[in-house]
Amino acid sequence: MSRGARLQIGNVEVWALPDGAADLGAQAAHPIEGEPPIDWPPIAERNPDSVHGPDHHWRIHNNCYLIRSAGRAIVVDLGVGVGPYPPYQRMHGRLPTALADVDTTFEDVDTVFFTHCHPDHVAWSMVEDEGRPRFPSARYLLHEKDWQEFTGRDPVPRYVERFVRPLDTLEVLDLLPGETALTPEVTAIEAPGHTPGHMAVVISSNGEQAIISGDVFNHPIYVTEPWREFVADLDRRQGIATRETLLDRIEAEGMTLIAEHFPEPGFGHVIRAEGKRWFRAL
Ligand SMILES: [Zn+2]
Ligand SMILES: [Zn+2]
Repeated sequence: MSRGARLQIGNVEVWALPDGAADLGAQAAHPIEGEPPIDWPPIAERNPDSVHGPDHHWRIHNNCYLIRSAGRAIVVDLGVGVGPYPPYQRMHGRLPTALADVDTTFEDVDTVFFTHCHPDHVAWSMVEDEGRPRFPSARYLLHEKDWQEFTGRDPVPRYVERFVRPLDTLEVLDLLPGETALTPEVTAIEAPGHTPGHMAVVISSNGEQAIISGDVFNHPIYVTEPWREFVADLDRRQGIATRETLLDRIEAEGMTLIAEHFPEPGFGHVIRAEGKRWFRAL
């Protein structure tokens, strides 16, 4: 009997694979010069598990997802891993347990899709001491612009050398040039700004829609105030434009929002109240 959280979108099943949460030492958003201050209490009231402490510092959650569609088993993102990942202090990811909780083995997975090439999204890719992919039957997918961005740096970040480069060396990594259908019901779309090749996953089946938004919305405040810059976006103006475009689409199409860094399982809707948008968990 599965212990995981499931969302049904038409014929498609989406299972949450929580990798764990960490209390960060700063807030999730900071006003830049000329912007109004942030009114944290209403954000905290609606999203109590996305903040911690009297200063509303950021409690970041790390959800990966399993999509079952058209006979395929696709894992979206691979979390923080066993660390150490300094911003997350002593957090030790639990994705393997989460996968077992939804009655799935590493061998069952045929596709691993990375929304982008950041250390909190790729870290369970390899069995490092054996030098082999952790998902032995899977192709691993990443937008080619993120491959170029992160392997083109000098030095190449250590997590890229540990978790991403070996996939290419072992010839299990496919670089995507842009929007790609993963199944007839599941499509990876470009959602740039956070990174140049950042992608989101749109699920559409039997008239129902959902979107796994990767790092487009890192904290519920960015649903309510998408116009604020996010400090970790490589192109902050593009990040804002992508947030606003996706929010309009989510509302127009009645999509369920699946947010990787929101409290587990990260399933919710965008609602309107008090003249603003808010994330409301299912
Ligand atoms: Zn990121
Ligand atoms: Zn992230």
